Amino acid sequence: MEEFINQSEKLSVAGQLAAGVAHEIRNPLTGIKGFLQLLKATTNEHHSYYDVMMSEVERINEIVNEFLYLAKPEVYKIEKHDILDLINEVIMLLNTQAILNNQQIVTNFSLDLPKITCESNQIKQVLINIIKNAMEVMSEGGEIYITVEKSEHNLKLIVCDEGKGIPKERLVHLGEPFYTTKEKGTGLGLMISRKIIEEHSGTLSFASVVNKGTSVTILLPIH
Ligand code: ADP
Ligand code: MG
Repeated sequence: MEEFINQSEKLSVAGQLAAGVAHEIRNPLTGIKGFLQLLKATTNEHHSYYDVMMSEVERINEIVNEFLYLAKPEVYKIEKHDILDLINEVIMLLNTQAILNNQQIVTNFSLDLPKITCESNQIKQVLINIIKNAMEVMSEGGEIYITVEKSEHNLKLIVCDEGKGIPKERLVHLGEPFYTTKEKGTGLGLMISRKIIEEHSGTLSFASVVNKGTSVTILLPIH
């Protein structure tokens, strides 16, 4: 137990540091991006080089943005929220892409769910990360089920997909920084999600059956 506490404290210091560095990288990156666009617009040569540079800069930007979520958002407001509102906002954000991918996001919400005390932007970020993973793993389309119910002192939120699943030996690596099996993945989404959920005194867990799908369960305490 003591070991566990030390581990998570270490992560938190490292996380703060990472977020600080990410913040410092963002401004010069914006400068580089601007001048690349300018250069490309003012010359007829080397356009393909500029495109490569731009896409690499975009990639740095993506990683930096993910790290920024480790830090507290600029406006950090812990308030009572209806989780269904947060989920619906996220679905609205992702639905266009889902439809393009031939995917349907299906919800099943229990009635009379209690509100939860949380930082809404952080919880929405977790939902985005998890639903995006589900979308990315269902290239042939299918359904993503989101269930919310009350379970004892927790609110239980489950996101199920019909993707290719995760072999047992890989399940333990989920949430490790930079663990990704995607060509263009950052391997940061789940690490950040876990960190945010743990900061809300909740838990994040995974269950998966290869070739059937994966379910991600979030438990958040009801205060
Ligand atoms: P990224 O999406 O950038 O790879 P994540 O931290 O979001 O990083 O996910 C890490 C890895 O976990 C993914 O690369 C993938 O191998 C696995 N994973 C996450 N969610 C799912 C899912 N729903 N189905 C199958 N594999 C998943
Ligand atoms: Mg991801």
